[in-house]
Amino acid sequence: METDIDDTCKAKDEEKKSKQILVIMVGAPGSGKSTFCEHVMRSSARPWARICQDTINKGKSGTKVQCLTSASSALKKGKSVFLDRCNLEREQRTDFVKLGGPEVDVHAVVLDLPAKLCISRSVKRIEHEGNLQGGKAAAVVNRMLQKKELPKLSEGFSRITLCQNENDVQAALDTYSGLGPLDTLPHGSFGQKNPDAKIQLGIMKFLKKVDAPSNTGSTASSTQDPVPPQITEEKNSCLEGQEITSLLSDAAGEEVKGTENPEVASVNQNGSSSDVPTLAFPSLSTSDFQFNNEKASDVIIEKVEEFVNKLGNARLVLVDLTQGSKILSLVRAKAAQKHINPKKFFTFVGDITRLYTGGGLCCNVIANAANWRLKPGGGGVNAAIFSAAGPALEVATAERAKSLYPGNSVIVPLPSTSPLCGREGVTHVIHVLGPNMNPRRPNCLDGDYVKGCEILRKAYTSLFEGFLSIVRSQEKLSKGCNEDIRLEPSVSQDHSEDVHGNYISTGDKIKRDGGHEYEQSKKCKTQNEVGTDINLSRAANLSADNEKIGVSTSKAWGSWAQALYRTAMYPERHKDDLLEISDDVVVLNDLYPKAQKHILVLSRFDGLDRLADVRNEHLQILQTMHAVGMKWAEKFLHEDASLAFRLGYHSAPSMRQLHLHVISQDFNSKHLKNKKHWNSFNTAFFCDSVDVLEEISNHGKATLKDYDSLLSMELRCHRCRSAHPSIPRLKSHISSCRAPFPSSLLENGRLMLAPRNTAQP
Ligand code: AMP
Repeated sequence: METDIDDTCKAKDEEKKSKQILVIMVGAPGSGKSTFCEHVMRSSARPWARICQDTINKGKSGTKVQCLTSASSALKKGKSVFLDRCNLEREQRTDFVKLGGPEVDVHAVVLDLPAKLCISRSVKRIEHEGNLQGGKAAAVVNRMLQKKELPKLSEGFSRITLCQNENDVQAALDTYSGLGPLDTLPHGSFGQKNPDAKIQLGIMKFLKKVDAPSNTGSTASSTQDPVPPQITEEKNSCLEGQEITSLLSDAAGEEVKGTENPEVASVNQNGSSSDVPTLAFPSLSTSDFQFNNEKASDVIIEKVEEFVNKLGNARLVLVDLTQGSKILSLVRAKAAQKHINPKKFFTFVGDITRLYTGGGLCCNVIANAANWRLKPGGGGVNAAIFSAAGPALEVATAERAKSLYPGNSVIVPLPSTSPLCGREGVTHVIHVLGPNMNPRRPNCLDGDYVKGCEILRKAYTSLFEGFLSIVRSQEKLSKGCNEDIRLEPSVSQDHSEDVHGNYISTGDKIKRDGGHEYEQSKKCKTQNEVGTDINLSRAANLSADNEKIGVSTSKAWGSWAQALYRTAMYPERHKDDLLEISDDVVVLNDLYPKAQKHILVLSRFDGLDRLADVRNEHLQILQTMHAVGMKWAEKFLHEDASLAFRLGYHSAPSMRQLHLHVISQDFNSKHLKNKKHWNSFNTAFFCDSVDVLEEISNHGKATLKDYDSLLSMELRCHRCRSAHPSIPRLKSHISSCRAPFPSSLLENGRLMLAPRNTAQP
């Protein structure tokens, strides 16, 4: 059955002697690697171990290092090994190939099946070991295939079997299943006609209308092998640019949910997509209210066109649950005709209540096609949103409005207790009511489309304006947190923000974390047309959040404050932006570094949001974070011995998910702009990691200081302690201050210096 077609790598029978085999499986998710391994292991007389990265960590996803260790130990025990991970890139295989040697042959089995088939399988599967299923799988498979590098013998493989269709796979299965303990397999490349040819077109090529090769026979591994029907279909496919949803529909059938638009895939892959404000909205009135689809799609396009340029970096997404949705395809076609920027507006097939977990799409705002009573019930989107958001939404809605007229909307900040907030990252629901053409529903317009279109336009205007007001408000919050809130250098601080720009209430003073009071913010007050005060969301959230520091709390975090949490929980979605991923931590550059070198070590432990949550049982997590932070600081010191580092936590962080700052002490950064920034790293607000470790092991929790007063302290040089009236003056001073660091920093290893740099930098 095998055909040796590589002249340079002629198969030659090896001398019969017992040799172990390390088979490195290569293939996209859904290509059938695990099934392949399991099948062989069931029927083979040889002892095999399967090393799967998705389960290696006590049944959970683990690391490459863990796989290497396990593979090496299984080989030492005399087993042959299947390495069941994607291994699509050469670099990902290199370390495993090195496990080979005189006693161990290293093989590659490449399941290079059509992208369409892999996606179809990935999206359909349930309870996948690595939780790669549903709509998100499409984007992942697609992304991986872009980077595919087929293995070569020169990498160190003694045998490569390329399978491009089910027949090839069956042949390879037979070969490996039939291996007895003493059998060896001929060396060489098998199944590959032309090693240089790009065998398989990725989805993006289909999307770009690149014609697939018409000669399907040429892609089969052997001319004797018949080409199975689904592959013939794949190779002849030529799909339209915006039709990934149909592609996925074809591939996975009507049950596919949460399939991603290519734009989502690409935007979400750039690492910071979870920070892009996004409104997901259903088509208004076209379902239950029986509004004409053609007319409705015209209105959507008209309104999207009107708003798309006002969006800044935000985006609008029209969502529908069904693959074949008429309104989606009409809108897609019209959006393409009008050349609406697909990064700013696109369509998405998925459940609006599970856009992030089900489809990898981060939307901080979702629109609800509400009923006039603003109550749960009915069917469709309204019922789904109320049900997924839990009673918190009903209560919060009732606080804002009792009813809604057609054409209007109401913004409801979602309490942090709502599962939609924690799980999906939704901070606001905008209820909106469209016109009704259904005689069995209230306010029927009896086919009056002049009025109907007018009301529908009004509804979308109200919805998009509401979204824009949220975006602007959150932009201010986010800037306050990370960037640009300029404080007067004098002591007259505006307490409308805390260090992180958390605006609190518009009316009364309310309490936050440690019981510190902040005055109302006037400058960040934003209202939508029905008079909803967006900041009240924070007030509502924060009022429930006034426990004493040191007591574990469930704090409310805005959408922007969840970015690190999402990175820690789903690092694979952000992996291009990460310096390190392990089971316990994720390391990344601070997005707004306050010094030349400023990185964050995030704990991956879900539920540990901040230092106040840390208890004795978390000591090991903190020790790991510290060790990783030290490792990176040492690396930086090795590169530049003039630097000095501190590792520590903010007493009251702005961002959710426990994170350790590793920051060089030059504070030479354009992002360091105000007193709060400075004091958050140069007063007791910054808790040195070494001290935190000591406190936790001695007292079971960290001592958190009165951060309110610490942040408003006068500006002092961190070396000579001289006072300075403004940030520019301070910065100019520290650029030349060579005074030794204070002894308090030199004690207990709080300051990290280059080993050879005994004199201070
Ligand atoms: P903290 O006050 O300890 O919560 O600090 C949060 C840090 O996260 C700040 O130094 C920010 O500059 C940084 N930051 C904010 N957003 C991001 C992001 N999306 N990625 C990386 N760092 C971020």
